[in-house]
Amino acid sequence: MSLNLVMLGPPGAGKGTQAKGFAAARRIPHISTGDMLREAVAAGTEVGLAAKAIMEKGQLVSDEIIVGVVRERLAKPDAAAGFLLDGFPRTVPQAVALDAIVAGRDALVVIDISVEDEVLIRRLTSRRVCGQCGANADVPGHGQPVPTVCGKCGGPLTQRADDREDVIRERLRVYARDTRPLIDYYAGRTTFRSVNGAQEPSAVARDLEAAVNSAHAAGLR
Ligand SMILES: [Zn+2]
Repeated sequence: MSLNLVMLGPPGAGKGTQAKGFAAARRIPHISTGDMLREAVAAGTEVGLAAKAIMEKGQLVSDEIIVGVVRERLAKPDAAAGFLLDGFPRTVPQAVALDAIVAGRDALVVIDISVEDEVLIRRLTSRRVCGQCGANADVPGHGQPVPTVCGKCGGPLTQRADDREDVIRERLRVYARDTRPLIDYYAGRTTFRSVNGAQEPSAVARDLEAAVNSAHAAGLR
């Protein structure tokens, strides 16, 4: 009875934080393809060097590379009793490849953390990072002012260049273009659930837990 979980969600949905907490609570490895690629690049592995060359040209790493990274990772012993995939799959061809990789294992549970674009834009455009110590400032709640001074060191808070509204709108447009077909690919399954990510993080965590349990039970029938 392993829990084989895929979490989908747009940038700013809080997916990474939820995924980390959930995987720790269930003692399954949290497999973030973004983290794995960054680590591979830093370690200078074959995959890392190939990925680095592509990213330096401003291009997206190919399905072939990402699928290879995931296949190797899921073959490790700690993923035999379950895993949480975060950031993969992003496209239908990746999802098809994943189905082949996990053939013979318990059914994939797929959770979509769903948040409306306007909520995401508000969240992401109010993100600030400290210019002095690098800490991320807490994102203000709805109607709260955007902070200007770091709570840790008192340094000035600034906005990352890729958190500008026009850049965010483009990221969300690309996400929607790639992900809508992916959601369609999974939506007909009894092990697919959507969770409202526009709530407080604790409420999202509670709904996530319930959704995973319900979908996992459906997959075992
Ligand atoms: Zn600071």
